[in-house]
Amino acid sequence: MFFEALAEYYGKLEGVSSRLAMIDILTELLKKTDEDDIKETIYMTQGILAPPFEGIETGIAEKFAENAIALSYGYTKDEVRKAYKKSGDMGSAAETFAAKGKLSRMSKKKFTVREVFDTMHKIALTSGQGSQDTKIKMLSGVLAASSPLEARYVIRFALGTLRLGVGDATILEALSKMSTGGREFKGELEAAYNICSDMGKVGYTLLKSGKIGIENFRISLFNPYRPALAERLPTAEEILEKMHGKCSVESKYDGLRAQVHMDKKAKKVEIFSRNLERLTPMFPELVKAALEYVDADKAILEGEAISYNPVSEEFLPFQETIQRKRKHGIEAKSEEIPISLFAFDLLYADGTEYIGKPYRERVDRLEKIIKKNNTIILADKKTVTTPTALDKYFNNAISKGLEGIVAKDLDSKYIAGARKFSWIKLKRSYKGELSDTVDLVIVGYYLGRGTRAEFKFGGLLAAVFNDKKDMFETLTKIGTGFTERQMSDLQELLSREKVRSKPVRVASLAEPDFWINPKYVVTVRADEITRSPMHTCGKESYESDEEQGYALRFPRLVSDGIRKDKGAEEATTTNEIISMYRMQKKARVEEETA
Ligand code: ATP
Repeated sequence: MFFEALAEYYGKLEGVSSRLAMIDILTELLKKTDEDDIKETIYMTQGILAPPFEGIETGIAEKFAENAIALSYGYTKDEVRKAYKKSGDMGSAAETFAAKGKLSRMSKKKFTVREVFDTMHKIALTSGQGSQDTKIKMLSGVLAASSPLEARYVIRFALGTLRLGVGDATILEALSKMSTGGREFKGELEAAYNICSDMGKVGYTLLKSGKIGIENFRISLFNPYRPALAERLPTAEEILEKMHGKCSVESKYDGLRAQVHMDKKAKKVEIFSRNLERLTPMFPELVKAALEYVDADKAILEGEAISYNPVSEEFLPFQETIQRKRKHGIEAKSEEIPISLFAFDLLYADGTEYIGKPYRERVDRLEKIIKKNNTIILADKKTVTTPTALDKYFNNAISKGLEGIVAKDLDSKYIAGARKFSWIKLKRSYKGELSDTVDLVIVGYYLGRGTRAEFKFGGLLAAVFNDKKDMFETLTKIGTGFTERQMSDLQELLSREKVRSKPVRVASLAEPDFWINPKYVVTVRADEITRSPMHTCGKESYESDEEQGYALRFPRLVSDGIRKDKGAEEATTTNEIISMYRMQKKARVEEETA
């Protein structure tokens, strides 16, 4: 497909706001795409150069884009900058200059999607001395052959500001419609996506091998899967009832979720975070221990990485563990704050796929392949059959400084990428507070007033993720819990990222001073969840200011600024808020009748 045709589809996508219309346009686009460029087309539409776990970004800064536009169309950098300042969008500036370019179109070449994509890939991988000039030249080579519409999207893609408003759920639905004409194949496609986290690979497999290819999709080493998530219930009684009277309870460690892929013969280990970021370089002691203490040639296992002192048996707080997530000074930090992995699951070992096997079989094999050592340790667990035993285990975990427990269904397979009742978490609650924190996505921010004026930061507008509608729905404004340092850090970060109009995937009745594209997550504690017409969380109609949505009472920030281990689509979902609201209501009734 020529890039010009893709740009036209992007133009159409930008022109509609309903999700159904978006799905139809995407379906049409996918139908016209063939095996050779389906991966590139999907990645481009997602605004990425590779699946996120590969960590490849175009690395083009605004200044480069300005230079490339000036060079391609015969204008000065100042002229380009002025046009950019006026519209706030470098893509529109490129479009304008392409339309009235002083230089006649230098190249008659028509680029294909693949050629544009490959050029962007090369730009991303070019580094070292003189690389900036090379990058600018490569980009202007594409611009010189672009129509105004193509120029708009080439520049937006290069800068990482494409933002077509197309999330995972929308692409999956379009892929299903492309192959069956309806939504009925979405479940299978989602299951394949959940075990490879690579939408390009899913699309390619569907085109190449059809539905059978998707149904036979397998987990593969060094390709991270999307982790299983836990539901919540408020009491031991309810947990056991849900688990049909018997379950395993495990300690809930408050560290960083880590999946470890290893191949002993190749001496290769890769570690991925909850949102599939590559953590390998940050945890050298885990890499070493995996090769030494996991008794298998090839394995994929999962656990919680946490700073732990094996002598005193003390767990360090999350804030300490998170300090290990750094790019520099790793050796020194790994000595200062050594990390252990509390392993709790096994997905693959030496030719056997465990992901589809029951929990009891997975942990049984896990126990057998981990040799005794202080770095990879089996997560503590116990099988219980009574609420009293479950409560006892829970209280014991709390007294050891842990966060709570995760109850696990003994017979359930590993359900990648979904929050199901096969895992149920129970956390310690504090009097007068919601029993759990929530992870919210920043969608806007307010300027400081009064004493806050000097920080140019007054608070955040925060949202939950509605995974069914593929939208971010506002839940609360957050004005408290910030230290001065956090306020100035947030201001610095957000002022660079602010956009002029409401991002397409955000549903909001509130108008912050500045909008932010959904990307950054913060953890918030609150007193309770209330019904409120002010926020869009849980609303059928986003326009209605009468329908009741959900909101937080007395929200305050508890994470140290932005959470580095969660992306926007890993935030708390609308459904979780609704179930937390129901749990809270039930607890109240029980308290009153007690
Ligand atoms: P939370 O903020 O409660 O950790 P979450 O949304 O990050 O929630 P959930 O799946 O809801 O993730 O809760 C389980 C989390 O608890 C996992 O992400 C994992 O990092 C952590 N965890 C700690 N110990 C365990 C364990 N034994 N089994 C499963 N998860 C565990």
